[in-house]
Amino acid sequence: MDIAVIGGGFTGLTAAYTLTKLGHRVSIFEKESFLGGLAYGFTFPGWEWHMEGAYHHLFTNDNSILSLLQDLGLKDDLIIKRPITASLWHSVMYQLDSPISLFTFPGLGPVDKFRTAILLAFLKVMPFWQPLEGITAEQLLVSIGGKNAFTTIWEPLLYGKFGEYAPKVAASWFWARIQKRTPSLCYIRGGFHTLVEALRAVIIKNGGTILTSTVIHSVKRTSADSYTLSWGSNKQTFDRILLTIPTPAAFKLIPDLPSTDKRYAALSAIPHLFAQTLILETDAPILKDVYWLNVTDRSFPFLAAVAHTNFMDKTHYGGHHLTYFGNYLPQGHRYLSMTAQELLKEFRPFIHSLSSGTRYKILHTHMFIGPFAQPVHTRHYSQKIPPITTPLPSTYLANMDFIYPWDRGTNYAVELGQRAANLIVKKTI
Ligand SMILES: Cc1cc2nc3c(=O)[nH]c(=O)nc-3n(C[C@H](O)[C@H](O)[C@H](O)COP(=O)(O)OP(=O)(O)OC[C@H]3O[C@@H](n4cnc5c(N)ncnc54)[C@H](O)[C@@H]3O)c2cc1C
Repeated sequence: MDIAVIGGGFTGLTAAYTLTKLGHRVSIFEKESFLGGLAYGFTFPGWEWHMEGAYHHLFTNDNSILSLLQDLGLKDDLIIKRPITASLWHSVMYQLDSPISLFTFPGLGPVDKFRTAILLAFLKVMPFWQPLEGITAEQLLVSIGGKNAFTTIWEPLLYGKFGEYAPKVAASWFWARIQKRTPSLCYIRGGFHTLVEALRAVIIKNGGTILTSTVIHSVKRTSADSYTLSWGSNKQTFDRILLTIPTPAAFKLIPDLPSTDKRYAALSAIPHLFAQTLILETDAPILKDVYWLNVTDRSFPFLAAVAHTNFMDKTHYGGHHLTYFGNYLPQGHRYLSMTAQELLKEFRPFIHSLSSGTRYKILHTHMFIGPFAQPVHTRHYSQKIPPITTPLPSTYLANMDFIYPWDRGTNYAVELGQRAANLIVKKTI
């Protein structure tokens, strides 16, 4: 079979890898000049490794991607560490990533700490998300954890991330976040780019084709069982099409899709946020020991500060320190049209306040924008997800809107790519 995969992120790459292994002819079409999608990596002269445009790590229970690493002979490239996660409270960073750190956190009284511990333990042991998708995250957090803990810890994070959508986020989304989290985190030697490169190489070796900087501008059905894809002045006919691009982009390419099934119509109503990171490369650390800082002070213009070089050693990046400042934003937000320098001007006083007087020089700035990077899991989201096999013949759609109840992640992109490939060849897993 000739199969077109539109989108060269982890879903598209894994699907293409699975299909070429089974002997199918696969072409990947990727609009950017690089592969990896939201997990793409960049590098600079003097750096030994790549680093992602948006902060990335794996959990030790991310079994699908860990198996893929093993399958590709990259098992020894997995690094496991336990970096510090903290929260900013009243301008001070408090480690908040274990039962002991919760009990020493001064922002909550004993009863609130106890209720928060019960909340987290309940979500960790509760194996079912279904009963939680009918209530909101806010209802769950307030009813079990209490109002004080909600206001101090959860509200700034929930509202900072989802903005106007925060009151609509289902409790099942929060369940998934707590269920999945492991105390230790993993990274891939050389960055996620190592895995992207390994997938690229094996797809080519298996006879696949990868076209980057290629925007598909039309998909036309040319017979009962074939489609012609057009890009630039080129055309090619395929037996199957797998779209792994965000839903709004897929619907633009195939406008009939939303009207084929009421769940496809429901999918078009799912709100998405854009992700944006400002990355500072500095000669000294901005955060002293902390890897991940949740900014619970809503006067700050960013949601998290992530010091990548407090997780991976700075020697892999020319001895420089790398820190992300990240946000999730609605499409059209003014930050999304700013340059890195303009964003830095807005963020600078706040970044400075995190460095506790350490002097650092900014050597480079980078900026990353991930469009449609976070679907909002509203109540009863499970009823809005259509099947990957669309009602249109030989056409499949698989993107992060489909991985519910889990939140987006490369592990689920790998799983989804495998699922889509197996559906295409009609072998279900
Ligand atoms: C801020 C942030 C932090 C994250 N942190 C983590 C983390 O720590 N760990 C983790 O595992 N995951 C993390 N993720 C999630 C992870 O990056 C994604 O779940 C995963 O990369 C999604 O892969 P995908 O292939 O489904 O989609 P994408 O990566 O979005 O790939 C879709 C691809 O389609 C391409 N495309 C779009 N339109 C077209 C078109 N018309 N024609 C051709 N190509 C097109 C895009 O350029 C892109 O390459 C994070 C994501 C963000 C945004």
